[in-house]
Amino acid sequence: MLKDYHTHHPNPAGGTICAVTMDDWERVATTPGMRPAFGVHPWHAHEVDAAELAFALDEWLSRHPSAEVGETGLDAADAHAATLEQQRLLLHIHLGAAFRHDRLVHLHGVRAWPELLSILKERARCNTLPRVLLHAWNGSHELAREFLALGAIFSVGARELSHSRAQERYARIPENRLFPESDDAPKEWPRTLALFRLLRSGLK
Ligand SMILES: [Zn+2]
Repeated sequence: MLKDYHTHHPNPAGGTICAVTMDDWERVATTPGMRPAFGVHPWHAHEVDAAELAFALDEWLSRHPSAEVGETGLDAADAHAATLEQQRLLLHIHLGAAFRHDRLVHLHGVRAWPELLSILKERARCNTLPRVLLHAWNGSHELAREFLALGAIFSVGARELSHSRAQERYARIPENRLFPESDDAPKEWPRTLALFRLLRSGLK
Protein backbone atom coordinates (compact mmCIF):
# COMPACT_ATOMS: atom_id res chain seq x y z
CA MET A 1 0.00 0.00 0.00
CA LEU A 2 1.50 3.32 -1.06
CA LYS A 3 1.49 6.11 1.47
CA ASP A 4 1.23 9.83 0.87
CA TYR A 5 4.81 11.11 0.76
CA HIS A 6 3.94 14.80 0.96
CA THR A 7 0.68 16.34 2.07
CA HIS A 8 -0.72 19.10 4.25
CA HIS A 9 -3.86 17.17 5.20
CA PRO A 10 -4.69 13.93 7.03
CA ASN A 11 -4.75 10.91 4.68
CA PRO A 12 -6.17 7.51 5.74
CA ALA A 13 -3.36 5.94 3.68
CA GLY A 14 -0.83 7.43 6.12
CA GLY A 15 2.28 9.37 5.18
CA THR A 16 3.91 12.66 6.08
CA ILE A 17 1.92 15.79 6.90
CA CYS A 18 3.95 18.97 6.39
CA ALA A 19 3.50 22.25 8.21
CA VAL A 20 3.37 25.51 6.26
CA THR A 21 3.76 27.99 9.15
CA MET A 22 5.05 27.67 12.73
CA ASP A 23 1.45 28.01 13.97
CA ASP A 24 0.78 24.80 12.06
CA TRP A 25 3.30 22.65 13.98
CA GLU A 26 0.97 21.65 16.80
CA ARG A 27 -1.69 20.56 14.29
CA VAL A 28 0.68 18.34 12.28
CA ALA A 29 2.27 16.94 15.47
CA THR A 30 -1.12 15.76 16.71
CA THR A 31 -2.66 14.45 13.47
CA PRO A 32 -3.42 10.75 14.11
CA GLY A 33 -1.82 8.21 11.79
CA MET A 34 0.52 10.71 10.12
CA ARG A 35 4.22 11.46 10.49
CA PRO A 36 4.67 15.21 11.12
CA ALA A 37 7.13 17.50 9.35
CA PHE A 38 8.04 20.84 10.92
CA GLY A 39 9.02 23.81 8.81
CA VAL A 40 7.99 27.08 7.21
CA HIS A 41 6.89 27.13 3.58
CA PRO A 42 8.82 29.62 1.40
CA TRP A 43 5.57 31.53 0.79
CA HIS A 44 5.57 32.38 4.51
CA ALA A 45 9.31 32.96 4.93
CA HIS A 46 8.92 36.71 5.47
CA GLU A 47 6.61 36.14 8.47
CA VAL A 48 9.27 34.35 10.52
CA ASP A 49 12.24 35.38 12.65
CA ALA A 50 15.17 33.18 11.60
CA ALA A 51 16.67 32.75 15.08
CA GLU A 52 13.32 31.85 16.55
CA LEU A 53 12.82 29.24 13.83
CA ALA A 54 16.27 27.74 14.46
CA PHE A 55 15.61 27.31 18.19
CA ALA A 56 12.09 25.98 17.68
CA LEU A 57 13.12 23.45 15.02
CA ASP A 58 15.83 21.98 17.24
CA GLU A 59 13.40 21.73 20.14
CA TRP A 60 10.51 20.20 18.16
CA LEU A 61 12.75 17.72 16.33
CA SER A 62 14.25 16.62 19.65
CA ARG A 63 10.77 16.12 21.08
CA HIS A 64 9.52 14.23 17.98
CA PRO A 65 12.18 11.68 17.02
CA SER A 66 10.28 10.40 13.98
CA ALA A 67 9.35 13.83 12.59
CA GLU A 68 10.70 15.12 9.29
CA VAL A 69 11.56 18.69 8.22
CA GLY A 70 9.51 20.91 5.91
CA GLU A 71 8.08 22.29 4.04
CA THR A 72 10.95 24.52 3.00
CA GLY A 73 12.61 25.44 -0.27
CA LEU A 74 12.84 28.31 -2.75
CA ASP A 75 10.12 29.98 -4.82
CA ALA A 76 11.35 32.50 -7.40
CA ALA A 77 7.98 33.05 -9.08
CA ASP A 78 7.05 36.73 -9.44
CA ALA A 79 4.71 36.63 -6.46
CA HIS A 80 7.46 35.44 -4.09
CA ALA A 81 10.77 36.57 -5.61
CA ALA A 82 10.91 39.61 -3.31
CA THR A 83 11.45 37.37 -0.27
CA LEU A 84 14.15 35.14 -1.83
CA GLU A 85 16.91 36.34 0.52
CA GLN A 86 14.82 35.41 3.56
CA GLN A 87 13.79 32.14 1.86
CA ARG A 88 17.47 31.21 1.44
CA LEU A 89 18.24 32.03 5.05
CA LEU A 90 15.37 29.84 6.30
CA LEU A 91 16.24 27.06 3.85
CA HIS A 92 19.72 26.79 5.38
CA ILE A 93 18.24 26.68 8.87
CA HIS A 94 15.97 23.79 7.85
CA LEU A 95 18.80 21.91 6.10
CA GLY A 96 21.14 22.38 9.05
CA ALA A 97 18.59 21.16 11.58
CA ALA A 98 17.68 18.18 9.38
CA PHE A 99 21.33 17.23 9.04
CA ARG A 100 22.01 17.46 12.78
CA HIS A 101 18.89 15.44 13.62
CA ASP A 102 19.24 13.07 10.63
CA ARG A 103 15.79 13.77 9.18
CA LEU A 104 14.33 13.91 5.67
CA VAL A 105 13.70 17.45 4.34
CA HIS A 106 10.73 18.28 2.07
CA LEU A 107 11.81 20.77 -0.59
CA HIS A 108 9.61 23.04 -2.69
CA GLY A 109 11.16 24.49 -5.83
CA VAL A 110 9.62 26.94 -8.27
CA ARG A 111 12.00 28.41 -10.86
CA ALA A 112 14.66 27.33 -8.40
CA TRP A 113 15.73 23.70 -9.02
CA PRO A 114 19.19 24.71 -10.34
CA GLU A 115 19.86 26.95 -7.33
CA LEU A 116 18.61 24.24 -4.96
CA LEU A 117 20.94 21.79 -6.66
CA SER A 118 23.96 24.02 -6.15
CA ILE A 119 23.05 24.56 -2.49
CA LEU A 120 22.75 20.80 -1.92
CA LYS A 121 26.00 20.12 -3.80
CA GLU A 122 27.81 22.62 -1.61
CA ARG A 123 26.45 20.85 1.47
CA ALA A 124 27.53 17.49 0.08
CA ARG A 125 31.05 18.91 -0.35
CA CYS A 126 31.02 20.01 3.28
CA ASN A 127 29.48 16.74 4.51
CA THR A 128 26.41 18.52 5.88
CA LEU A 129 23.81 17.26 3.42
CA PRO A 130 20.64 15.76 4.95
CA ARG A 131 18.31 13.39 3.09
CA VAL A 132 16.01 15.36 0.78
CA LEU A 133 12.66 14.86 -0.95
CA LEU A 134 11.88 17.13 -3.90
CA HIS A 135 8.12 17.48 -3.99
CA ALA A 136 6.00 18.20 -7.10
CA TRP A 137 9.10 17.34 -9.09
CA ASN A 138 8.92 18.63 -12.69
CA GLY A 139 12.57 19.23 -13.59
CA SER A 140 14.65 17.96 -16.48
CA HIS A 141 16.36 14.57 -16.79
CA GLU A 142 19.72 16.29 -16.38
CA LEU A 143 18.69 17.89 -13.09
CA ALA A 144 17.05 14.67 -11.90
CA ARG A 145 20.27 12.77 -12.51
CA GLU A 146 22.26 15.26 -10.44
CA PHE A 147 19.76 15.24 -7.57
CA LEU A 148 19.69 11.42 -7.66
CA ALA A 149 23.47 11.41 -7.32
CA LEU A 150 22.98 13.36 -4.08
CA GLY A 151 20.60 10.68 -2.79
CA ALA A 152 17.39 12.66 -3.36
CA ILE A 153 13.94 11.13 -3.63
CA PHE A 154 11.02 12.71 -5.52
CA SER A 155 7.27 12.93 -5.05
CA VAL A 156 4.64 13.80 -7.64
CA GLY A 157 0.91 14.48 -7.50
CA ALA A 158 -2.05 14.41 -9.87
CA ARG A 159 -0.97 17.71 -11.44
CA GLU A 160 2.46 16.38 -12.44
CA LEU A 161 1.22 12.87 -13.29
CA SER A 162 -1.49 14.11 -15.66
CA HIS A 163 1.00 16.23 -17.62
CA SER A 164 1.16 15.14 -21.27
CA ARG A 165 4.87 14.34 -20.95
CA ALA A 166 4.68 12.61 -17.56
CA GLN A 167 5.61 9.16 -18.84
CA GLU A 168 8.70 10.49 -20.59
CA ARG A 169 9.62 12.83 -17.75
CA TYR A 170 9.52 10.26 -14.93
CA ALA A 171 10.49 7.07 -16.79
CA ARG A 172 14.17 7.39 -15.92
CA ILE A 173 13.73 7.90 -12.18
CA PRO A 174 14.25 4.57 -10.37
CA GLU A 175 11.16 3.06 -8.73
CA ASN A 176 12.62 3.34 -5.26
CA ARG A 177 13.17 7.10 -5.68
CA LEU A 178 9.74 8.25 -6.98
CA PHE A 179 6.61 8.36 -4.80
CA PRO A 180 3.05 9.75 -4.85
CA GLU A 181 1.90 12.87 -3.00
CA SER A 182 -1.42 14.65 -2.54
CA ASP A 183 0.14 17.95 -1.37
CA ASP A 184 -2.71 20.45 -1.03
CA ALA A 185 -5.29 18.36 -2.95
CA PRO A 186 -6.41 15.57 -0.57
CA LYS A 187 -9.46 14.81 -2.73
CA GLU A 188 -7.11 13.98 -5.61
CA TRP A 189 -5.45 11.11 -3.73
CA PRO A 190 -7.37 8.25 -5.41
CA ARG A 191 -6.70 9.76 -8.86
CA THR A 192 -3.07 10.34 -7.90
CA LEU A 193 -2.66 6.67 -6.98
CA ALA A 194 -4.36 5.55 -10.20
CA LEU A 195 -2.12 7.80 -12.32
CA PHE A 196 0.93 6.69 -10.37
CA ARG A 197 0.14 3.01 -10.99
CA LEU A 198 -0.41 3.74 -14.69
CA LEU A 199 2.98 5.40 -14.83
CA ARG A 200 4.57 2.39 -13.16
CA SER A 201 2.93 -0.04 -15.54
CA GLY A 202 4.02 2.09 -18.50
CA LEU A 203 0.51 2.08 -19.92
CA LYS A 204 0.04 5.81 -20.11
ZN1 LIG B 1 3.49 21.08 -0.08
